[in-house]
Amino acid sequence: MWTIKLLISKILYYFFPSRCYVCKKEDKTICDNCINKFPKNIDVQAFYIKSIFSFKYQEIKNIIHAIKYYHRKDLIKPLAIVASNELQKAINHQPVTINWVLVPIPMPTMRKYMRGYNQAELLAKEISEIISIPINNNLIIRVKNPKRQVKTKNKSERLKNQHNSFKIINDVSNLDIILVDDVTTTGATIDEARNILIKNGANKVIAITVAH
Ligand SMILES: [Zn+2]
Repeated sequence: MWTIKLLISKILYYFFPSRCYVCKKEDKTICDNCINKFPKNIDVQAFYIKSIFSFKYQEIKNIIHAIKYYHRKDLIKPLAIVASNELQKAINHQPVTINWVLVPIPMPTMRKYMRGYNQAELLAKEISEIISIPINNNLIIRVKNPKRQVKTKNKSERLKNQHNSFKIINDVSNLDIILVDDVTTTGATIDEARNILIKNGANKVIAITVAH
């Protein structure tokens, strides 16, 4: 079965070779040149959030937009490779534990159903394969469907909007958690997930996002 799949993908690649989403050259879905031209590790207010790229670059905006709204799941892997590198550096500065687990920020059920996937989950899966830290989708869920963050007006409204939007469904005590999300704007979503995890006994909670 896998051989057939591999063969089909090779044939497809022959006729429709992948092109870099940014420069359109025949290459990976985002070529090394393009991914390396953006500055990495931009500052986010909270020390526990690591964001890789800045949303002020139109190309970064376009990539995230394509992943979210045009089903370009193939753009996730090149981002995950960069995120994994940066994450590994960040973790190495922390005391080493064997309890690290990757937890994608869950998406409201209805939105996931409509889109067919949660891009944070796909990102976490790719990172998990690269850095061999397990992923757990079964610790935290979204409990209500807050207004879309993009539709809310300011930071205080966003913070209010996020209040009580997560629930812990399994034991998180003593875990060292790396929250994974595609984008953080104010950090409100990550803050709330982090707070509830810590309140429920998680040992350490940091977060990684592709863009800020
Ligand atoms: Zn390129």
